[in-house]
Amino acid sequence: MHLGLSIQNSLIDAAIVTNSSDFIWQKSYPLEEDGVPSLLKSCTALVDMASRNNPSLNQTVGISVQTSFINKTSPHDGLGRLASVDMKTNLQASLGRPVVLASPGQALALYESCFGKAQQSKVTCCLFLDNHVYGGVTFGQKLWRGANNIVGEWGHMPLAWPVPHELDGRDCWCGRNGCLEEFLSLGGLENEYFNITQTKLDIEAIADAADTSDLVASSVLQVLDDRIGRTTAAIINMFDPDVFVLGGRIAELNRLYLNVPRKWPGYLLIERNETKLVQASNVPFALAQGAAWLVAS
Ligand SMILES: [Zn+2]
Repeated sequence: MHLGLSIQNSLIDAAIVTNSSDFIWQKSYPLEEDGVPSLLKSCTALVDMASRNNPSLNQTVGISVQTSFINKTSPHDGLGRLASVDMKTNLQASLGRPVVLASPGQALALYESCFGKAQQSKVTCCLFLDNHVYGGVTFGQKLWRGANNIVGEWGHMPLAWPVPHELDGRDCWCGRNGCLEEFLSLGGLENEYFNITQTKLDIEAIADAADTSDLVASSVLQVLDDRIGRTTAAIINMFDPDVFVLGGRIAELNRLYLNVPRKWPGYLLIERNETKLVQASNVPFALAQGAAWLVAS
């Protein structure tokens, strides 16, 4: 049996997956805002509870967490504080067990390839669009991490095929500018609406406004369709996946699955495209299950 944790937004999720891929146990704790010691304490409590209930648990724990290759603090959520600490060392010391880390994009790619909508896919690419932007790639249901463990770290790559006004400003918290995260994260989308209207709306409110004839909201979402179209097309040109999965809260916009593939012909290197764009499976604990399968695979 394999235990996975997902540290994401305001929750720490835990899931146990058996060797035969059955999801048999789950538990969540809130992610407190008072620093790393509290986070480590909650993770330790979850792991202790899981191992008490399941004595045959694998010693190694898989963990989906904001990756810390950029040693700067993000303003987008409470997880920014994690960037400046060595998560692997801290978690292993606290849990008293080996841990395997992956980004939410990598955990989601593994979940979808092994248990979700990409089980028949030979090559799967995933974009996780939420407070942060992450990606993941699996080949034959195995996560491909690369020589430097940065496969899928696309959030701080530049936007593909930028138009002139997209090259202005857009300073990212990572120190670069014009990063995908400034365009395709929740904060980036909300800023797009705010910069035109001086009104702060979240993604649900922007989508509702677009449905009720708010022309600015409609325009912001059309631009989002195109930017996700360009981003996914650039990744398809590199990896040529069978299935492309979108996850995170931005992926809940149903319009993307019609509009984004319509953008591809302008950007793909081929005329006829077999890649399927799908929304991530709507199941609880998917990231924690993907993290658990990091250990099994
Ligand atoms: Zn950046």
